[in-house]
Amino acid sequence: MLAYTYLEPGKFALLDKPRPTLLHPRDAIVRVTLGSICTSDLHILHGSVPRAVPGVTVGHEMVGVVAVNVETFCGDCFFCRNGWVNNCTDPDGGWALGCRIDGGQAEYVRVPYADQGLTKIPDGVTDLQALLVGDVLATGWWAADIAEIHPEDTVLIIGAGPTGICTLQCVRLKHPRRIIVCDADPGRLDFVRRHYPEVLPTPPEQVLDTVRSHSAHGGADAVLEVAGTPETFRMAWMCARPNAVVTVVALYDGPQVLPLPEMYGKNLTFKTGGVDGCKCAEILSRIAAGQLDTTPLITHTFPLADIEAAYDLFAHRRDGVMKVAIKP
Ligand SMILES: [Zn+2]
Ligand SMILES: [Zn+2]
Repeated sequence: MLAYTYLEPGKFALLDKPRPTLLHPRDAIVRVTLGSICTSDLHILHGSVPRAVPGVTVGHEMVGVVAVNVETFCGDCFFCRNGWVNNCTDPDGGWALGCRIDGGQAEYVRVPYADQGLTKIPDGVTDLQALLVGDVLATGWWAADIAEIHPEDTVLIIGAGPTGICTLQCVRLKHPRRIIVCDADPGRLDFVRRHYPEVLPTPPEQVLDTVRSHSAHGGADAVLEVAGTPETFRMAWMCARPNAVVTVVALYDGPQVLPLPEMYGKNLTFKTGGVDGCKCAEILSRIAAGQLDTTPLITHTFPLADIEAAYDLFAHRRDGVMKVAIKP
């Protein structure tokens, strides 16, 4: 079967590999009907994921009758029992698929603890509708869930890429009074304007003024940082009102600075990310009910045989790409 494979930093290749087989009674083999590419795959390509194993098939966003969770979790350990599946202590636990064990940019994928990490796609929900459930949409759901959003709140979301938009969709289900979305890319702000007319899009240079003039207490009541740069990290706590919750979902390339003397008295609560993506059944039922729809995010489709072209488009953000679908 065809499998897109991490050879060494800087090098992926589409190889012919044997079909995976069951290795454990709790395994399943999923025939992939649709997959996607994530920014984390680019991090592996660039060698910035040290635990990625050379030779591994990449890809952790895929569906095939079931939605596959990006995380592998045993369901039995202390962390799993508390719903913190990202911290599963099993050797295969956490982000293993497409990083430490073979993933889903392939025709078939072996999924450990399949009784935990696979969720049947409901009747009437298409592969395209379910494609982002196990990773970016699970991340948005989790972020909105831990952000402590109330109906009177002004919520600031920093980042309008795929995870930012998924976060926005899930935040909308909490019905806050006002949602502001910040991004430096005018195309992505346009995307927000077109699809979510009630949301206030703003570029970074205006974000502080926009937040202050649309919140009752001098800053956002809840901030969700989904962008991941030193500037956006700073923006996140600066735009927060005193005693706000700042939820940091973004992945950073390096450590960030908390200038505590400058922040003294703001009394912020920071929640930091590593999605606990165990709400896929609930997310799928919201999709079936028409309350979540990530299909506008999937702007391009490529056959698996052309996955290199898909990576090229995605990595260079050409042609207004948000997410690509890969069809084996
Ligand atoms: Zn991902
Ligand atoms: Zn566990």
